[in-house]
Amino acid sequence: ALKAGIVGLPNVGKSTLFNAITQAGAESANYPFCTIDPNVGVVEVPDERLQKLADIVTPNRIVPTAFEFVDIAGLVKGASKGEGLGNKFLAHIREVDAIVHVVRCFEDENITHVAGKVDPIGDIETINLELILADVESVEKRVERSRKNMKGGDKKYAQEVECLERIKEALYNDKPARSVELSDEERVLLRDLHLITMKPVLFAANVSEAEVANADDNPHVQKVKEYAAAEGAEVVPISAKVEAEIAELEGEDKQMFLEELGLQESGLNRLIRAAYKLLGLNTYFTAGVQEVRAWTIRRGMKAPQAAGVIHSDFERGFIRAEVVAYEDLVSAGSMNAAREKGQLRLEGKDYVVQDGDVMHFRFNV
Ligand code: GDP
Repeated sequence: ALKAGIVGLPNVGKSTLFNAITQAGAESANYPFCTIDPNVGVVEVPDERLQKLADIVTPNRIVPTAFEFVDIAGLVKGASKGEGLGNKFLAHIREVDAIVHVVRCFEDENITHVAGKVDPIGDIETINLELILADVESVEKRVERSRKNMKGGDKKYAQEVECLERIKEALYNDKPARSVELSDEERVLLRDLHLITMKPVLFAANVSEAEVANADDNPHVQKVKEYAAAEGAEVVPISAKVEAEIAELEGEDKQMFLEELGLQESGLNRLIRAAYKLLGLNTYFTAGVQEVRAWTIRRGMKAPQAAGVIHSDFERGFIRAEVVAYEDLVSAGSMNAAREKGQLRLEGKDYVVQDGDVMHFRFNV
């Protein structure tokens, strides 16, 4: 499963947010394949389409797709030199697919700030520098090795050295590896380096309870937005403290609390969706009388691989998929009506699954 790691300086609200995530956590019986680890929080991806589909097929249950957040504690100034949790921290962060960078935008004199004052851009740069230094080390080692291998005359290594040099140049200029333009082929060459600054990032701007409805008025949030825009990154304003309170409520109580705060939905939901988008993920559905269920795929996945997300047997024995687009199914009103209108298609192994496709797989066992 794809995972987003939560990073940030100490005392910015990471644990508070992560606790809200585990509190709101998904029904684990539905996700037996998810990691069981105290540092991993599994959350359901909110999707209004599930209820609409359930209205049509009246299943026994609805199962949203899930997403994992990893708490990556221990990043402090000097981590790349082994301070704090240092290397352990870096090992964890290499395993995630995207990074949620929590930034303190709330003022509270009772909560110590590690740098002495609330300064979100300074904080971001401190963290980024540690990540860049960690990548410099990996890249330098690899360049050295590739240069040696290059002497054997293998063109692959020459190409590798060339693009590693470009990345090194960017890192030396305090720029993340993701700022370097790379071809798909070059990306494949570098994949096993697990560069941290290659991973996509989004910022969670942690504001106080009082500011949560108008977070954009907070000057710190504005600065984070400007910074993120320059990098093409997204910002999700959130109040970790409020999220912790929301996570303890359910149903109507939750709705009432959100209304009191002037919110349409929880910040956690917005964060989940933003992380999902950041990773380039799509959702397809299965809709039967047993269950209506959402499944996560990477954008561009073909039907057999999408089937493999349910079970590897589905991929191995894939024959065909019956597909109807969510919009078509909802406007037709029933599976039969969609079929009569010719909207139920039979697709083969080269079909690229689209977001919102309602799929039924035929396979050999
Ligand atoms: P971490 O070190 O980044 O994991 O930070 P914590 O989640 O432990 O938060 C540090 C302190 O800041 C705790 O005492 C939290 O209760 C507090 N805190 C977190 N978010 C907020 C907030 O939005 N407003 C205020 N006033 N305090 C917060």
